[in-house]
Amino acid sequence: MGLGSSFQGLDYANIESLLSDEEKMIRDTVRAFVTDEVLPVIEHHFRDGTFPNQLIPAIGTMGLLGANLHGYGCAGLGPVAYGLIMQELERGDSGLRSFVSVQGGLVMYPIHAFGSETQKERWLPALAKGEAIGCFGLTEPDHGSDPGGMTTRAVKKGDKWILNGAKAWITNGSVADVAVVWAKTGDGVRGFLVEKGTPGYTAPDHTGKFSLRASVTSELILQDVELEADAILPGSKGLKSPLMCLTQARFGIAWGVIGLAQCVFDEALRYSQQRIMFGKPIAGFQLTQRKLAWMATEITKSQLLNLHLGRLKEAGTITPQQVSMAKMNGCRVARECTHLAREILGANGISDEYQTGRHFCNIEAVYTYEGTDDIHTLVLGDRITGAPAYE
Ligand SMILES: Cc1cc2nc3c(=O)[nH]c(=O)nc-3n(C[C@H](O)[C@H](O)[C@H](O)COP(=O)(O)OP(=O)(O)OC[C@H]3O[C@@H](n4cnc5c(N)ncnc54)[C@H](O)[C@@H]3O)c2cc1C
Repeated sequence: MGLGSSFQGLDYANIESLLSDEEKMIRDTVRAFVTDEVLPVIEHHFRDGTFPNQLIPAIGTMGLLGANLHGYGCAGLGPVAYGLIMQELERGDSGLRSFVSVQGGLVMYPIHAFGSETQKERWLPALAKGEAIGCFGLTEPDHGSDPGGMTTRAVKKGDKWILNGAKAWITNGSVADVAVVWAKTGDGVRGFLVEKGTPGYTAPDHTGKFSLRASVTSELILQDVELEADAILPGSKGLKSPLMCLTQARFGIAWGVIGLAQCVFDEALRYSQQRIMFGKPIAGFQLTQRKLAWMATEITKSQLLNLHLGRLKEAGTITPQQVSMAKMNGCRVARECTHLAREILGANGISDEYQTGRHFCNIEAVYTYEGTDDIHTLVLGDRITGAPAYE
C-alpha cells in the first residue's frame, strides 16, 4: 500500500504545543484507527466503488458521529477535537470523512437544532451509534449553488404533508434510514424527515464517479410522498436553517482536507527521499524541494487558520464567512498539494498502489461540494465589500 502505514503528521510550527492532552489523545486514536482499519481496505473499496460499511460500528463506538453535539448519546467534544477527527479521517479517505460529516453536521445537527424532542429521542442515539444512517437533501438537478431556487415543494393537505420534487448528488442517499429533505412550503423553506421505505420515495445511485468512489451518492425522488404532520423539523425556518447545517459541515471539511494534504505531502516526501534519478534521490533537486517547501508552508498556514477558527468556535464567536474562508483555503491548498505530490511520484502518481492518486481524484468533489471555490469567494467578496455579487 505505498508508503501509508508509517504516516508522519506535519507539524512545522509546533502546533502540538497548542493542543490539550485530550485533543492529542483523540487525534492519535483516530490516526491509529485509520492506519490499522481504513488504509488496508480503502483502495479496494475505491476500486469497487463501495463504502466500507464494516467500519461503521467502530466509528459509532468511538463516538465519532455527531462528536461535537451534546446529549442523546453524543460525545460532546469541543470544535478542535472535532476538527482533528475530520483531519485524521480524511487522511484515510474523503469518502469516509464525508460519511461522518454528513451524518454529524448535516443530519444529526439539524435534528438536534431544529427537531422536536420526539424526533431527537427517536433518531439521535441511533445515528450516534451508527445503527441508523442519514442523508441531507438540499441540492437539486437544476439548483446547486443557488439552493434558494429549489423547486421541491411540501404542501399541507389536511393533517398530512405532500412532498414532490427531486434532489441530486446526495451523500448516503440510497443507504439512509432517514433523509433530511429541504422543501419550499407556504411558510418558506422547511426541513422534513423522510424515512426509507415511505411510498413515493426512491433513491437511485449516481454511478460512473471518478471522485469519492468509496462513498454512496444518490438522487432522491419524491413523488406524492405523504408524511405525517410531525415529520417537519419544527424549529427550521427558511433557507438559513440548511445554511447553518452547511456551516457546521464546512468547518469539518476545512480540517479534513488538510489531513488529505498532509497525507500526500508525507507520501511525496518519503518517495522523493527513496527515488534515485540522475544518481541521487530526487529530494536533493531544488525543483523538488520547491514543491515540498510550498506544500509544507501552505499546510502549516492552513493548520494555524483551522486551529484559530476552532478556538473562536469554542468561544462562540466564529462567523459563517470565516468558515467559508477556511473551506475555500483548505480545498485550494489540498488540491494543489495533490497535483504537486502526483508530479513528484512520476508514473506512480497515477497508480493506486500509492494513496496520492486517490486523493487527487477525491479532492475534486470536495472542492465542489458544500459551496464551490467560486461561491465561497463571493461570500467573502460580499463580506469585504458589502456588495453581494450573487443576488
Ligand atoms: C460527491 C458529491 C457529494 C455531494 N453530497 C451532497 C449532499 O449530501 N447533499 C447535498 O445537498 N448536496 C450534495 N452535493 C452537491 C454539491 O453541494 C453541489 O454539487 C454544489 O453545491 C455545486 O452545485 P452544482 O454541482 O449544481 O454546480 P453549479 O451550481 O451548476 O455550478 C457550476 C459552476 O458554476 C459556478 N457558479 C455557479 N454560480 C456562480 C456565480 N454566481 N458566480 C460564479 N460562478 C458560479 C460554480 O462555482 C461551478 O464552477 C454533493 C456533490 C458531490 C459531487
